[in-house]
Amino acid sequence: MQTPYYLIDKARLLPNLEKIARLRALSGARTLLALKCFATWSVFDLMSEYMDGTTSSSLFEVKLGREKFPGETHAYSVAWADHEIDEVLRQSDKVIFNSIGQLARFEEVSRDHVRGLRVNPGVSTSDFDLADPARPFSRLGEQDPARIEQVADQISGFMFHNNCENADFDRFDAMLTQIEDRFGALIKRMQWISLGGGIHFTGEGYPLDRLAERLKRFAGENGVQVYLEPGEAAITNSTTLEVTVLDTFDTGKNLAIVDSSIEAHMLDLLIYRESAKLEESGDQHWMICGKSCLAGDIFGEFRFPTALKPGDRISIQDAAGYTMVKKNWFNGVQMPAIAIRELDGTTRLVRDFTYADFSAALS
Ligand SMILES: *Cc1c(COP(=O)(O)O)cnc(C)c1O
Repeated sequence: MQTPYYLIDKARLLPNLEKIARLRALSGARTLLALKCFATWSVFDLMSEYMDGTTSSSLFEVKLGREKFPGETHAYSVAWADHEIDEVLRQSDKVIFNSIGQLARFEEVSRDHVRGLRVNPGVSTSDFDLADPARPFSRLGEQDPARIEQVADQISGFMFHNNCENADFDRFDAMLTQIEDRFGALIKRMQWISLGGGIHFTGEGYPLDRLAERLKRFAGENGVQVYLEPGEAAITNSTTLEVTVLDTFDTGKNLAIVDSSIEAHMLDLLIYRESAKLEESGDQHWMICGKSCLAGDIFGEFRFPTALKPGDRISIQDAAGYTMVKKNWFNGVQMPAIAIRELDGTTRLVRDFTYADFSAALS
């Protein structure tokens, strides 16, 4: 198969899904895939056996969820446009408004729909200002219990999303207690509560049983159906970006240029200034660089057992979350194809991209 391509390995996806199903069984929480993290629908048949549906950030994600992922379709967006709302309602099971203003604007047209409101508890676990829903002056959800109280009988649920890459159960537990302290009376009036994504419960050593017990207790004490919206936790470590070395260079460091680009194919790493991940061995140090003309198009520095040369193959790890959804045509670099390794070990190509796709992306 011609590189570059993303390789989704179902055998590496499955352990995450099994943990999700276990959490669901132990806690009673329903789990919805957050499509903004991962929307490669060719594996939705497998994922939907372990998860209850999808949640979204836009009309197009609502439509994709409804079309490709059996189960519930939650429709959330920071703001719906007037011309979108009818289709959003038609294609979803629940609509979650980001503000009281949006709820009021669409109150009449959505009256027969299951409706929720995003609530911003003002605390989060984000280390990045850019991605912190509780950042100062945040637009992500309503914050004032007194204002929310005034519209509480127009809605049946709340969505909180304030965990970000949170692998610490005690921190999750403490923040949920803060949420109950501040919004408890309102939560008790609701039928369902979504606690959003960002809980890294599929990670090695995460106390899944304690999380399940906490969620079950939250649901029982408040009389609500709990939802979780995992993105990264569902697909973490399932996928690689397969690339080939095109050229090598000695600039005082050993450089290898590959047939991919971090700007075009793993943009999230560049935004957060993180290194790509590789399985390393040996003591030869090489900097892996992309082939775009951006000077800082660099995947990172890694160790290899021998000197790299043109034609060598490299697997960049953990290439699913916030990666495939952000790929772009910068520099006209060949878009990676998408391949799936089935549970029986066979690999099949599910999508490749051509010059026609590049040309069609603009006009
Ligand atoms: C981003 C997001 C998610 C998914 O977050 P992960 O960190 O990928 O689990 C879920 N819900 C909402 C509202 C989000 O914005």
